[in-house]
Amino acid sequence: MVKIPKINKDRCCYCGGCVGVCPQNAMDLRETEIRISENCTRCGVCVKFCPAGALEKDAK
Ligand code: SF4
Ligand code: SF4
Repeated sequence: MVKIPKINKDRCCYCGGCVGVCPQNAMDLRETEIRISENCTRCGVCVKFCPAGALEKDAK
């Protein structure tokens, strides 16, 4: 099963862009923490979008 994307905190600049592109509205950015809810369908849109390469789709 494809996992919910993992956020690499060393790369993320908390621009909030991924939150806006998620078609499920599954992402929530609070200050320096991103939460991904169970609504995530693992579509990978946010992973492709992130300009910093901070989202890892197949993170274990
Ligand atoms: S788009 Fe990338 S850098 Fe921007 S908040 Fe999302 S994970 Fe972080
Ligand atoms: S994988 Fe798709 S549904 Fe899940 S958080 Fe990213 S954009 Fe949203």
